[in-house]
Amino acid sequence: MSEPKFKRVLLKVSGEALMGEQTYGIDHKVVKRIAGEVKDALEIGVEVCLVIGGGNIFRGLKGAAEGMERASADYMGMLATVMNALAMQNGLEQEGVPTRVLSAIPMTTVCEPYIRRRAVRHMEKGRVVIFAAGTGNPFFTTDTAAALRASEMNCDALMKGTQVDGVYTADPKLDPSATRYERLGYMQVLADDLKVMDASAIALCRDNSIPIVVFNIHEKGEFGRVLQGQGRSTIVEN
Ligand code: UDP
Repeated sequence: MSEPKFKRVLLKVSGEALMGEQTYGIDHKVVKRIAGEVKDALEIGVEVCLVIGGGNIFRGLKGAAEGMERASADYMGMLATVMNALAMQNGLEQEGVPTRVLSAIPMTTVCEPYIRRRAVRHMEKGRVVIFAAGTGNPFFTTDTAAALRASEMNCDALMKGTQVDGVYTADPKLDPSATRYERLGYMQVLADDLKVMDASAIALCRDNSIPIVVFNIHEKGEFGRVLQGQGRSTIVEN
């Protein structure tokens, strides 16, 4: 087994990744599988914290498009991420992994409020921390929350688990000649508007020199392989 390339990482998983074959909500089998990937990463000596999106339940933009006030719709989206965080905590605990959910919107009967020093302490004690409720602010996304928390936690990388194994020159499902980038610069991602994460997340990672590693979260064992510098991924860095 090779040495992990990163000591501490933040794993960002979109809400949609938890749906599995469903069109809405949470598939517990998928949650358990991702929890297993996180457990394997801990076993090779990597500290892991998590941000989970909410798009499988509610997206603020969709609510706003249907006539809701954007800020209220965004708060609903943030609440959706709390549900996903609790589901993931449950999945991790069933794997025997001690886990804490820290929410940017305090709701002390279901989880802890987000306090940076407390989060650091949990991680030092070997617990997996799940950051819920995004940044706590409307008009943001969980991608930006992931970049923010990765910066606050001094993570060595932001691992973006997606449905594909990296960033391609074109959509590989539509264009068979599309090729995967091994490496990209932050500026190229921003200038070419490559769909890696939203622009504010990319800019925050660039400012704090946090590499973004895009890989396929659905491929068994891939998270661990990518952490060891193997597997298939695209790395976004300076
Ligand atoms: N959201 C927000 N502020 C944040 C993070 C999330 O308002 O800091 C809301 C926003 O409405 C978003 C929803 O929560 O649509 C779910 O998050 P996101 O769309 O990022 O989830 P993902 O696409 O990763 O599943």
